Amino acid sequence: MSNTTSTNFIKNIINEDIKNNKNDGRVHTRFPPEPNGYLHIGHAKSICLNFGIAQEYGGLCNLRFDDTNPSKENVEYVESIKSDVRWLGFDWDDRLYYASDYFERLYEYAVQLIKAGKAYVCDLSAEEIREYRGTLTEPGKESPYRNRSVEENLDLFERMRAGEFSDGSRVLRAKIDMASPNLNMRDPVLYRIQRAKHHRTGDKWCIYPMYDYAHPLSDSIEGVTHSICTCEFEDHRPLYDWVLDALGVYHPQQIEFARLNLSHTVMSKRKLRLLVEEGHVSGWDDPRMPTISGLRRRGYTPEAIRDFCERIGVAKAYSIVNIAMLEHCIREDLNARAPRVMAVLRPLKVIIDNYPEDRVEMLEAENNPENPAMGSRQVPFSRVLYIERDDFREDPPKKFFRLAPGREVRLKHAYIIKCERVVKDEKTGEVVELHCTYDPQTRSGMSTETRKVKGTLHWVSAAHAVPAEVRLYDHLFVKENPEEDDDFRKNLHPNSLEILDSCLVEPGLAEAAPGSRYQFLRQGYFCLDPDSADGKLVFNRIVSLKDTWAKIQKAQGGK
Ligand code: ATP
Ligand code: MG
Repeated sequence: MSNTTSTNFIKNIINEDIKNNKNDGRVHTRFPPEPNGYLHIGHAKSICLNFGIAQEYGGLCNLRFDDTNPSKENVEYVESIKSDVRWLGFDWDDRLYYASDYFERLYEYAVQLIKAGKAYVCDLSAEEIREYRGTLTEPGKESPYRNRSVEENLDLFERMRAGEFSDGSRVLRAKIDMASPNLNMRDPVLYRIQRAKHHRTGDKWCIYPMYDYAHPLSDSIEGVTHSICTCEFEDHRPLYDWVLDALGVYHPQQIEFARLNLSHTVMSKRKLRLLVEEGHVSGWDDPRMPTISGLRRRGYTPEAIRDFCERIGVAKAYSIVNIAMLEHCIREDLNARAPRVMAVLRPLKVIIDNYPEDRVEMLEAENNPENPAMGSRQVPFSRVLYIERDDFREDPPKKFFRLAPGREVRLKHAYIIKCERVVKDEKTGEVVELHCTYDPQTRSGMSTETRKVKGTLHWVSAAHAVPAEVRLYDHLFVKENPEEDDDFRKNLHPNSLEILDSCLVEPGLAEAAPGSRYQFLRQGYFCLDPDSADGKLVFNRIVSLKDTWAKIQKAQGGK
């Protein structure tokens, strides 16, 4: 597992800390989601990193909800996050925490800051605070309330808590430096007044701590050693350090890494929520969503996602990972373990004229040529079959080795057949059925099976096949970076979902359990969707068989 040590700069930092016996050699991380949406694949990177490091170093990783913003957070999100972390294969044991567990302590720390002259109550409006803050090129202006006495600040802060003032009328601010080149250090807000029902503390509080204040203290209270976060927080690190130093409490180390960006999708919870609320997708778990729950429903495995997170590595530089790499990971995983079956997505009827009407043969079919231990199954063959409409051409172009008038193909696990006659709809001219003959000497596995033909097709027996709906997915967005335009929604893929509702699958799939994954021969990997009910089968295509990752890597001068 530690074979990436040299490429993961965070592990290098930890190795150094252990060598120097910093924190007595302890390693303690945390994954700190805000419960304001469902987790996405970017969070998976952070989860694998934080829990993975703890595992690797024999340390601990906490799950902590950063629930300091009651207006956007709720219990549904808390529950989904817990189940997603577990599904990915990680466990916080008894270390499930909430920043709201610390509200009382955080309040006491704030009182301590006031007493030390390091925080003050400010009556400027939000807009005024913004104006006074200055810009990157101009220093800020000090608030007229900055020099209130400790007594007055203590009194006002207590009354803020008691609910004497209206929302937004006052804030508690750190007294740092209005001329700091780092805007985050220009007397940042630590507490605001907000009457909102909190999903855990109810109406107990009407003041809530800001993230930049609650986060370092939560880390400190939990004894976290390495507080790993994404690069947007690099500019906040001086404030992280200031809060802990001003209070003289245990001081974890914040380390930043580059967030995962994935092509053809968006990754912020805010944007994903818009897609859900505006009905562009069916929900947070729509199989096209980059959410953990969407990927799970689509049929992704935790192993493939963990493998992906391992491969993308951990660095500081901004990059966009092509989604083909994620697809490559699930293909590799399922290639090794998904049973192969036959399913016809767009059926075309085939009648074998020289095959007896009432005969049914059970043919042996291997479940996975990559893994003989997976054994074999019996597939029924009979006179009337269905093949894929695309596998027949009346006027075959060059290099088309599938079925055409007068041509022969092999039916997988079965016989060589020859197309003798094409029946068309008189009005539309559409091909409605093919009449074929079969060669009884060519059954797969027979000693007389000596003839070779170029094409091999999958098929199902008409009398035995089970109907199914199949959902084919394309990228959710047409552009590699949908966010390069002012409104990312303009780049939504108009046909990212295609529903095929007259598919036919092998009879063995009638009993498939939701979540079962298969390779449909020549079509890709599929997963039984929870929408399957009352004998109706619905399959999601997880990914096609065609791997584009190697090609993309090559084009990028690949590694
Ligand atoms: P979003 O903008 O999607 O809401 P966030 O950073 O606000 O993301 P949090 O719930 O606060 O979401 O994130 C929890 C943890 O996951 C944080 O440590 C955050 O840095 C990390 N994280 C979020 N997005 C990514 C990403 N794309 N890649 C890696 N880590 C991420
Ligand atoms: Mg956020």
